[in-house]
Amino acid sequence: MRVVIVGAAGRMGCAILDELDQSCGISLAGAIDRDADASRGITTDLEAALRNADVMIDFSSPTSTAANLAACAHHDVAALVGTTGLGDDAERAASAASARVPVLIAANTSLGVTLLTELVRTAAFSLPADFDIEITEGHHRYKKDAPSGTALALGRAAAEGRGRDLESVRGVPREGGAQRKSGEIGFSVIRAGDLVGEHIVMFVGTGERLTLGHQATDRIIFARGALKAASWLVGRVPGRYRMVDVLGLKTKG
Ligand code: NAD
Repeated sequence: MRVVIVGAAGRMGCAILDELDQSCGISLAGAIDRDADASRGITTDLEAALRNADVMIDFSSPTSTAANLAACAHHDVAALVGTTGLGDDAERAASAASARVPVLIAANTSLGVTLLTELVRTAAFSLPADFDIEITEGHHRYKKDAPSGTALALGRAAAEGRGRDLESVRGVPREGGAQRKSGEIGFSVIRAGDLVGEHIVMFVGTGERLTLGHQATDRIIFARGALKAASWLVGRVPGRYRMVDVLGLKTKG
């Protein structure tokens, strides 16, 4: 399998390149970044790299996701997007690209968060609607988007468990004494130091609380998950896929 890494000079790009060095059967077709670095073989020419690739792994910035997906479709290259903070343009581009190539957009490529998402969906489905749902996430001080893509994906799973879509129940920042609305899903954000990624989902009733959570202590878990997903995508029929498909987790409901 020949892989192109977009965002190769970043924290995740470096983690994936390190992991790639130790992986058998995967070769690097191109390391792409906005900032070229000839000494490390990093260039800005995505189109050239895609000509000799089977799959693109993108952990860069939401500004280029739509164009990167269109380029993958054009060159018949599978696409794994780990970039978060994506807008509607990326969603539209993913739908268009998935008619031609396999596409997976995952706000979190770790095994633990993939399972956590399904546990949250089940808990939201199972518990009475008067259990309030609150999601707290923490990341390093440089993270650009908030709440994290993972927190939003967890919120989406909780909302779906209750038969709703997130936008209709997403809480607003609770400053100035705004009271919690019935059924809303609230988000709180911590940005501090070198936190790799922490997510806690609380289901709080009267007299009891269920807490589900995940702590990432090393980015390698995202890198490994991304490479696993990229390998899995190659050769699939065009369409949209999820991490839960890749990991083959047994989920209920
Ligand atoms: P980072 O800032 O360390 O790295 C991003 C890299 O992308 C930088 O080197 C930057 O120069 C490059 N870049 C920016 N815009 C570009 C463009 N238009 N074209 C090419 N390269 C471009 O960030 P990071 O911590 O590596 O995270 C990258 C993204 O991955 C973020 O959106 C983050 O939230 C997400 N992330 C996802 C997961 C996951 O499991 N899916 C895990 C960690 C981080």
